[in-house]
Amino acid sequence: MIDVELESVSKRFSRSGEAAAVDDVNLTIGAGEFFTLLGPSGCGKTTTLRMVAGFYFPTQGHIRFGGQDVTRLAPNKRDTGMVFQNYALFPHMTVAQNVAYGLKVRRVSRAESSRRVNEALAQVHLDGYGSRRIEQLSGGQQQRVALARALVIRPRMLLLDEPLSNLDAKLREETRTEIRRIQRDAGTTSIYVTHDQAEAMAMSDRIAVMQAGRVQQIGSPREVYHQPATAFVARFIGRSNVLSLPVTAADTTTVEVALPGAGTIASGAPEGHGLRTGDTALVSARPEHIALAGPDDPGVIRGRVTALEFTGMATHLTVDIGAEGGEVTVAAVDVPGRVDVGDRIGLRLTAERLWVVRP
Ligand code: ATP
Repeated sequence: MIDVELESVSKRFSRSGEAAAVDDVNLTIGAGEFFTLLGPSGCGKTTTLRMVAGFYFPTQGHIRFGGQDVTRLAPNKRDTGMVFQNYALFPHMTVAQNVAYGLKVRRVSRAESSRRVNEALAQVHLDGYGSRRIEQLSGGQQQRVALARALVIRPRMLLLDEPLSNLDAKLREETRTEIRRIQRDAGTTSIYVTHDQAEAMAMSDRIAVMQAGRVQQIGSPREVYHQPATAFVARFIGRSNVLSLPVTAADTTTVEVALPGAGTIASGAPEGHGLRTGDTALVSARPEHIALAGPDDPGVIRGRVTALEFTGMATHLTVDIGAEGGEVTVAAVDVPGRVDVGDRIGLRLTAERLWVVRP
């Protein structure tokens, strides 16, 4: 187990003033932690991971493993295990030969190697698969072989780059639970790259949400969900409504805002928000924290339903609340059967769940 530190790490691929792929990233990942880099395509997650692996050297900044500077150390000297999206297995070798590869390179004895391969295969629930050929395995099984191959060398750190992308939805969910179980058992510090926020939320101890090469927020799944730092994080994690509302009062951790035609409401706010009466605040309201009401009930925001989407667990309603608010998405568990597109409706926000975000 080892901790990882990225200090002011940047990566530019060309000298010609193009935007940095990774721009001044600062991260500290604890020993044994499962840490995820999350963000949309092109935000710099893979480049960050590749710098930790040593495949790219940063243009600027430092990377440390357990306090030791590894910024310019060759990948094979870093003692990391890597798992890729496309598995990168050797198709002409058996499962056992694939898993044993890293041990062979390290000149581990045949007996020891065989023992460790069996142990690694058991770890990923593939006991008895050693003599199978790679093409005889399903995608999920191949990904578990890739994981066993990374784990068998007992790396100081596990680096996983979108390892579940090639699996179907059901298998993705099963395999993510598996990966986390295996990582917990092994206690290996892990950095996981994904653009799938549900995956990041389900698996991670902490998440760094990235956009355009920069880290927008670092926090536990609960923190990034309930207290998003920016409008981008609020919208990227789950689904959120970011409302622009006039501030009517403010203190250190609470901001009171005026709702369109519905009085005022208090929203949680991060310390140092700097908002004052008369400013406009951006307030994030999750769809499940908005309740339906009658259009003529007192103190509700009035709007008209423009879309209905049944998802099984809840019904998502899109409600047009007029020029001031635009469209708001509501996730309602119980929707009266008579509500339909075109209907007038009232909305009530849950004050305890509102959160002020930065632009
Ligand atoms: P994805 O989820 O699509 O893999 P990502 O968040 O992992 O995206 P990166 O692959 O890290 O993003 O890319 C970040 C930026 O750096 C992108 O604009 C990309 O075009 C650029 N980039 C990545 N690798 C190279 C390279 N080898 N040479 C030049 N530009 C690169």
